[in-house]
Amino acid sequence: MKKVVLAGAGFGCLSVLKSLPKSIFKDYSFTIVSDNPYHYQTTLLHQFAGNINKKIIHPLSLMLPKEINIITSKILSIQENMLITSDGEISFDYLIVGLGSEKNTFNISGFDEKPDISNIHNATLVSESIKTNLKSNNKLDKNIIICGAGLTGVEFAGSLSEYINMNNINASITLVEAFSHILPPFSEDEARYAKEVLKQSGVHIYENSKIIKATQNSILIENENQTQELLGTNIIWTAGVKGNAVVAKSIFECQNNRVLIDEYCRPKNMENSGIFVIGDCSLLIDESTNRPYPPTAQFAQKQGEYIASILPDILAGKSIQTKFSYLSKGSVCSLCNSKAVGNVGGKSIYGFKAHMIKKIIDKKWLFKLYGVKALFM
Ligand code: NAD
Repeated sequence: MKKVVLAGAGFGCLSVLKSLPKSIFKDYSFTIVSDNPYHYQTTLLHQFAGNINKKIIHPLSLMLPKEINIITSKILSIQENMLITSDGEISFDYLIVGLGSEKNTFNISGFDEKPDISNIHNATLVSESIKTNLKSNNKLDKNIIICGAGLTGVEFAGSLSEYINMNNINASITLVEAFSHILPPFSEDEARYAKEVLKQSGVHIYENSKIIKATQNSILIENENQTQELLGTNIIWTAGVKGNAVVAKSIFECQNNRVLIDEYCRPKNMENSGIFVIGDCSLLIDESTNRPYPPTAQFAQKQGEYIASILPDILAGKSIQTKFSYLSKGSVCSLCNSKAVGNVGGKSIYGFKAHMIKKIIDKKWLFKLYGVKALFM
């Protein structure tokens, strides 16, 4: 029986398994390998780390057909026809790699040691240390500095401000961004709205401010050739991600730990390897912009659906004609107090409406995972 192995249990690999016809699991052997026996919604890690929503974890055994083998093991590297894990080797005929991303500090001094919220383990540490520090009498322990105001930084600042206000905690949240406005991928108007909502919720915002260094209890920022020190015990890195280091240690051609792939999601120069790479650890150039597609859950899900559409034919030995194509539907960034901001179908959306659209996007994913059971979650 041909063996299909999926490396990772994120949006990409689960989208593959949840888009395949169920009958296929009887005809071929499917195995999913992940370091956790559950899937977690990376899109909600900011809420998890900000202590306002802990329900983002979904055991794989509750959502996958029983024919699929679930292996909990740390993947160390990927070789031809073989995954090397902390518990031994796993062979495959076909492999789908969706190992996600990790923080990229661009070698800025002092940030390797600083926490981030790019995975559930790190988000748990951040959530716990912030909760502990906010109980302290030391003023610095009540200062939280969020480094980088892309979607992750902004969503995290929003969640934390909600937590702090809800619990009447006297603390300060500072968000620092190098670009001229927070949320660089968004328009100036959208970013201005986000800034206003966050400021009303008590977040201090520094724009045009490049972070150049961190010490144990401070960061140094540079703004128009002036440097300034911001003090705080809680310094969290949200200023960039790269692909999972495992793929860079394996057999692939990579850039920033992301595997260069072709329009069939196959690693470059490895067209006949039986390996496909999807999600944040893949890198595909968008020919309309000549830039890589950004690593988003939406992109990973679409790649997963694409693999599910071609896999039955591949397993049946047929050749594949359909290429992967992607058109982003836009993105929505949560803020706080049931407000969000986004751009969907080319139109700006603001406030409660944007918040509801974000909720629907999250719910749609739960539907994909659980079917109608998601209605009661
Ligand atoms: P990012 O790279 O998109 O944003 C990092 C931010 O940090 C940028 O605004 C950048 O200008 C800033 N920055 C970088 N170096 C800096 C420095 N030295 N000093 C100050 N600022 C600095 O990373 P992210 O926000 O983690 O997002 C990663 C990907 O995930 C993106 O594609 C994003 O769209 C996606 N994402 C989507 C959502 C959503 O759809 N709601 C949420 C989170 C992340």
